[in-house]
Amino acid sequence: WGDEMEAALPVLHTLEHAGYEAVFVGGCVRDVIAGRSITDIDIATAALPDVVMSLFERTVPTGLQHGTVTVIVDERTYEVTTYRSEADYEDYRRPTDVAFIAELEGDLLRRDFTINAMALRSNGTLVDPYGGLTDLRRGRIRCVGQAEERFREDALRMVRAVRFASTFGYAIAPSAWRALLRNRELLRYVAMERIGAELDKMIGGAGPHRAAALLAASGLLARAKEPLPAGFAKPDCGYRQRPALRSGRGAGGADGVPPLTAALARLQSKDDRWAGVFLALRLSPEDAEETLQRLRFPGRRIASARSVVMLHAAAAPLAAASGAAAVPLAAAAWVDAVLAAGVETASAWLRITRAFAASDGQIGGLTLSSGALEQLAAQLAQMPCTAVRELAVNGSLLCAHLGMKPGPRTGSLLQQLLRSVALGETPNGRAALLALAEILEEER
Ligand code: ATP
Ligand code: MG
Repeated sequence: WGDEMEAALPVLHTLEHAGYEAVFVGGCVRDVIAGRSITDIDIATAALPDVVMSLFERTVPTGLQHGTVTVIVDERTYEVTTYRSEADYEDYRRPTDVAFIAELEGDLLRRDFTINAMALRSNGTLVDPYGGLTDLRRGRIRCVGQAEERFREDALRMVRAVRFASTFGYAIAPSAWRALLRNRELLRYVAMERIGAELDKMIGGAGPHRAAALLAASGLLARAKEPLPAGFAKPDCGYRQRPALRSGRGAGGADGVPPLTAALARLQSKDDRWAGVFLALRLSPEDAEETLQRLRFPGRRIASARSVVMLHAAAAPLAAASGAAAVPLAAAAWVDAVLAAGVETASAWLRITRAFAASDGQIGGLTLSSGALEQLAAQLAQMPCTAVRELAVNGSLLCAHLGMKPGPRTGSLLQQLLRSVALGETPNGRAALLALAEILEEER
């Protein structure tokens, strides 16, 4: 195991010394075996939640009704969950009630896929009753037990199958794929927020193009409770290879890296990647916003994606391969676009378009000019200011100087001053700006 799990061993030891079985479980076991970096460490134990809380100094009762206690040791957090079974599923959603149990094997049985149903003991023994290791080695997403049954218990698992297949480049086992196609209508019972969380992981993962292809082939998104804009529900990301059931390997599987994923891989943040996908799919700002709203993303993330898509309409012509010649004109148009969108949005748009320019030079059918993008980036870096609050004068100073009452006119004057400074026509100094304001008032 890696350093992170090594560091977590004392948590297992504490539980074991108190007489309770405790193991690493789920994603961290899967990822450490596959040699991937671990996102978080989940621990399962025979100890009941109140026992877990009594054994550690710092704990948070994160989800007591599900048996989960967060344990904090050395500023690291671990989710410690009591062995449980999930008996009563209702309405194709995860159960509201759980039963705590004494045996690890029963806990592994409730888990979705064999690769997620392995446990690792503190002595290094792997507990793998459902053949997860073989499936991991073969790159196969297979349900624990009957796929049909597991998808009917919790329909989100169908989306999770796509998520794991796409991020790891694995194939969905034919039995699971068939069950998915038969049961996809059940997705309408799943909370949009849970679907959104899985999609967010897909886009943050290594195979967004595989996710797009699998989602399109499965027809899953079209079955969600709230319809998503057509361009998003049936994505065409230029990824034409149909995820066919090939030679018994199931849907998905190994393949080359197409431009969309190559471009997204250059982007660190999920928000940049979402905006990149919207631009690649040529979604309108309204459809981009609606997509994220339906998926219950936080308002801040929705607004930032929307403003990048909006800026794209104004800025794309400046970055188009043929538009590179019109530099002086572009400067003013770019300044206006930046001032309207704000510097954060402009920087995000530049990161995204440069990432696409560096992969295959295209975004949503538009051919980008790297040279033009570099120029826009340089101009942005040189803009003396990009917001009214950075000006050397403010509204009240302006009003006092011109002897006017604060009002809408003050705001529009400040905007004009800002534009002039951003264009490099006027220095950002008090005297120069007040003089310009006088002229603007006289010309009025
Ligand atoms: P990662 O943390 O890398 O996204 P993960 O496998 O840890 O992947 P989580 O969503 O954190 O995924 O879930 C932790 C574990 O809980 C899974 O590995 C799986 O064993 C189990 N699990 C999570 N969601 C479900 C579900 N809907 N049905 C059955 N088991 C689930
Ligand atoms: Mg996890």
